[in-house]
Amino acid sequence: MSSEHGIYAKLPGFAEAPMRVAFHQAIPLKTVVVYCPDPRASEIPAAVAREFDQVWPGEVVRDETGAKVGFTNNIGQVITVGGRAIDALRSVTVLNHMLGVENVVIVHHTFCGTTAFTPDGLFEAFDQEEGADIRHLHAPVDLAIEDFEQSLRHDVAVIRDAPGTPKQINVFGYIYDIDTETLTKVVEDLAPVTP
Ligand SMILES: [Zn+2]
Repeated sequence: MSSEHGIYAKLPGFAEAPMRVAFHQAIPLKTVVVYCPDPRASEIPAAVAREFDQVWPGEVVRDETGAKVGFTNNIGQVITVGGRAIDALRSVTVLNHMLGVENVVIVHHTFCGTTAFTPDGLFEAFDQEEGADIRHLHAPVDLAIEDFEQSLRHDVAVIRDAPGTPKQINVFGYIYDIDTETLTKVVEDLAPVTP
C-alpha cells in the first residue's frame, strides 16, 4: 500500500473548494461539544443532542461500494481534559473549514479530576518528578477548575475571542451533573445577528 493511500489531497483531480462543498453535503455537522474524557462524562454528547435538538449518535452513510462517505449525526466531539476550551481551538477552526460549525458547546462536569489539584501543585510536582519548570507552558487558569461559573465564562471567552473562531458561531457553557446526567446552562454567547 502506498503511503499516499487514503489521502484525499492525493486523489486524481483533487480541488479543495469542491471538496469542502462535498464534505458540507456529506456531513451535516452543526454543534461541536467540548467535554472531558472522564468515563462518567461519556453521556454528555447525548445530553447536548437533546438540549439542542440534534441527531446523535446517528448512522454512518455508505456509498454503493460500501465505502464510508458520511454520517447523519450533527454533533462533533472534541474531548479535552476538563472539557477545557484552550485545547479545542485548532479543532474548531478545522471543523468549520471542512464541515461548517454553528454552535460550540463547552461542558464542564461535577466532580471533575481537574477540580482536585491546583496549578501550583501541578507545577511543583512536575518540577520535582521531571526536573523541569513548565510554568511558562500553560496558564494556571487553563489547568485546574476552582469554580464552574468562572471556568465556563473563561472558556466561552477563549473560544469567542480566538482569531480562528468564525464570528457567526454561537458559544455556550454548560455544567453537567454526573449523577443526574443533566445539563445546566451557565453562559450563552450568541453570534451577532447579521443585517
Ligand atoms: Zn473531568
